[in-house]
Amino acid sequence: DSTRRWLFADQLGPHFLDAPDQPVLLIESKAVFRRRRFHRQKAHLVLSALRHRAAELGDQAEFRQTETYAEAARGSLSVCHPTSRAARALVHRLGAEVLDPRGFVTSPRDFTAWANGRQDLRMEDFYRDARRRHDVLMDGGDPAGGTWNLDAQNRERPPRGAEGLGAATPPEITEDDIDEQVRADLDRWERDDGIEFVGRDGPRWFPATRAEALARLRHFVEHRLAPFGPHEDAMLAGDPVMAHSMLSAPLNLGLLDPREVIDRVEDAYRSGAVPLNSAEGYIRQILGWRDFVWHLYWYFAPSYRSSNALAARGRMPKWFADLDADAVQARCIADVLRGVRDRGWVHHIPRLMVLGNYAMQRGWRPGAVADWFHRCFVDGYEWVMTANVVGMSQFADAGRMSTKPYASGGAYINRMSDYCGGCRYDPKVRVGANACPYTAGYWAFLSRNEPHLRSNHRMRQPMQGLRRLTDVDAVVEQEEARGSHAP
Ligand code: SF4
Repeated sequence: DSTRRWLFADQLGPHFLDAPDQPVLLIESKAVFRRRRFHRQKAHLVLSALRHRAAELGDQAEFRQTETYAEAARGSLSVCHPTSRAARALVHRLGAEVLDPRGFVTSPRDFTAWANGRQDLRMEDFYRDARRRHDVLMDGGDPAGGTWNLDAQNRERPPRGAEGLGAATPPEITEDDIDEQVRADLDRWERDDGIEFVGRDGPRWFPATRAEALARLRHFVEHRLAPFGPHEDAMLAGDPVMAHSMLSAPLNLGLLDPREVIDRVEDAYRSGAVPLNSAEGYIRQILGWRDFVWHLYWYFAPSYRSSNALAARGRMPKWFADLDADAVQARCIADVLRGVRDRGWVHHIPRLMVLGNYAMQRGWRPGAVADWFHRCFVDGYEWVMTANVVGMSQFADAGRMSTKPYASGGAYINRMSDYCGGCRYDPKVRVGANACPYTAGYWAFLSRNEPHLRSNHRMRQPMQGLRRLTDVDAVVEQEEARGSHAP
């Protein structure tokens, strides 16, 4: 059989091949970078990973560097289900044989069987179903430890007065000749081809090979998983990584199979090396959230991406779009934006509660916010960001995937971080020169969206709070005056 396996740049692990010696086609398309302005370090990571895989496979692979995929995708090809609608349409058009998706634990059949006939699609229900179906953290028919959800143990504040969590530092990445070539090529594309990137270049921070990814996985499970759980929602200005695994990028490049990650985490719990709340909290992110948003991407119609239930029509301002952290005085957002600018990565709480929360409060167009997250984060893909941003973070889907908007004022950020102490604003103040943009923004958001939110029973308390506010007009006026200026 002369059929070759076409591997996209997010299908780089051994589990995308049927046999270790199967002939492979890899294509590096430059046109991808002309269409969108990606983070420079994301472009570097993806190209480095693809080229490392080509080098590893040697003669087994044909590696083509072209303008478009179509130029190089010739002959009889099979491909594991691609991860975007555009890529799927392309492989169909080119006549490749499309196999079932790989790189996720649950299958589309699992998901459809679970979703059909349900009014509300909730991650928690999907996750429990997946744990049963795939026997993950189960003791017979019951969840390990007798409980499905240990979130309540995983919301600890950061340690007071500490600069960092003190978790062991992940193994460093050593760049090689391939990285040097990638960097030179990207410099040249910027200089000669008018291709633009966002964010700063910097040493590669994320795995580009399976060996690097496995080293990070091993180290995480041995040294960082235990403290991960309790502190997974906390933020410290001096410790952007805390005990997070940073495995989302290698997982989404296909370098790691989520099932192997889950099995190692469960083994660590079974051997007594890590507590259940840490193992469960981590597995919930992979088997729960990651698989869930993957399926939602395909399950919802393409128009889901332009959902806009809160009628948010504001434009994302340039300082935010360009990651201009130096233009910002609010300490939390300046620090988080700096993290995105310098690394293309911050963990899930700054994404949701600092960046996403700010965008939703200001009413920026949800599709544009999703696109920004997709382009600016090393682990961002259309399938990842659509439900995560449009649904969860911006609540633009009228509650199809979450029960209430993740809107919060400065009090949340103050509780879960050390940002507010050194900030020129005060999280308790909502009007005046010291008014925290999150606190003021929160009330202005509730006020503006009252008609959309008043029938949501989970929003009853905040809406009652809003009605009791005597200065709401002043807050709204002040936030309108702030407009798109950097806080
Ligand atoms: Fe952020 Fe407000 Fe705290 Fe400043 S006071 S760090 S703006 S939450």
